[in-house]
Amino acid sequence: MSGTRGTRVLVLNSGSSSVKYQLLDMGGGGRLALGLVERIGEQSSRLKHTPLATGGEAREWTGPIADHDAALKAVAEELARDGLGLDSPELAAIGHRVVHGGQTFTEPTVIDEAVLAEIERLIPVAPLHNPANLTGIRTARALRPDLPQVAVFDTAFHTTMPESAARYAIDVEIADAHRIRRYGFHGTSHAYVSRATAKLLGKDPSEANVIVLHLGNGASASAVRGGKCVDTSMGLTPLEGLVMGTRSGDMDPAVIFHLMRVGKMSTDEIDTLLNKKSGLIGLCGDNDMREIRRRIDEGDERAQLAFDIYIHRLKKYIGAYCAVLGRVDAIAFTAGVGENAAPVREAAVAGLEQLGLLLDAELNAVRGDEPRLISPANSRVAVAVVPTDEELEIATQTYALVGEESN
Ligand code: AMP
Repeated sequence: MSGTRGTRVLVLNSGSSSVKYQLLDMGGGGRLALGLVERIGEQSSRLKHTPLATGGEAREWTGPIADHDAALKAVAEELARDGLGLDSPELAAIGHRVVHGGQTFTEPTVIDEAVLAEIERLIPVAPLHNPANLTGIRTARALRPDLPQVAVFDTAFHTTMPESAARYAIDVEIADAHRIRRYGFHGTSHAYVSRATAKLLGKDPSEANVIVLHLGNGASASAVRGGKCVDTSMGLTPLEGLVMGTRSGDMDPAVIFHLMRVGKMSTDEIDTLLNKKSGLIGLCGDNDMREIRRRIDEGDERAQLAFDIYIHRLKKYIGAYCAVLGRVDAIAFTAGVGENAAPVREAAVAGLEQLGLLLDAELNAVRGDEPRLISPANSRVAVAVVPTDEELEIATQTYALVGEESN
């Protein structure tokens, strides 16, 4: 690769009917543009593009976008209108979020045919996500075949988990034959936030033990020792662990047999129930924490119970990961709920003084976009709010890899 390559990285997060994107300048120019294409394949597809570099108004339009190819071309046109076209020599690489890298991909990886084949081979363990990610990669490669494209895997940060945490206690041969183990997800967020938390404490990541609580619509916890993940709450799929917006999290697996035998439900119906109609929405009909808090303030008992179940599970994971780590330097709250919902942080930490966790109510009430401590100086374990930035992490990893290869 020549040393004259540019400094821009396009980050693509391709879902089955959507593409989220950000264009970042890794040479110090920050975020240049971001946007979203939704409802791909429908008559009412929608594109929203925010040109941050020019400071212009967000542009939005609705109309049919047939497939990912058309979606990416529409994105390229929007970027070109701002002088940020994908044909620019300033574009150094495209970084793709790929959900499942199995045990194969422990690092961000430059995409070639062999990498594509391996991501495809992993489809049985990620049937909802990897096909969409692959489509996004293929489309982007067709558009700029000359450009390095990098896959950044949601699972990669968790591949350092010891076997004691990664294996389920089931028959080893059956588990291995079907690649059943705990992979974990939200890895780019856990990596970014655990590092940013160490920095907030003035420590090198290799010296800090951190519990990261990524609480968004999907939610997961991780235990990070010296910069390496040693346990995480999501498993074979993103269904395990915490109570989420629409997912149940942990549950006795026998509930599934019961629903099949007694409830006469099909596999697909149970899959939909546990992934889309459970968690907060199943418990109280709402998955948005703002709405749940509003209902609680009005005395709504179902909303209160949903909140209590959510917090109970969260507390169990904090306790468990204190035990896993032995020494904890900080607990970091991140993502939509973790960054914004002060009552969730307050309730999650309440009563954990014996574990060394104290909260400063005033600091907890302050809103902000920067990493910040919300514990008093005498808290043995620091409690922090650390906004996540998965796109920046993907761009950073992509650019580092492309930069390395050019040396
Ligand atoms: P994410 O998946 O990280 O985008 O998080 C989305 C979730 O964050 C939403 O479903 C809400 O539950 C939650 N959320 C966003 N903003 C707020 C807020 N101001 N207060 C409480 N919860 C919020």
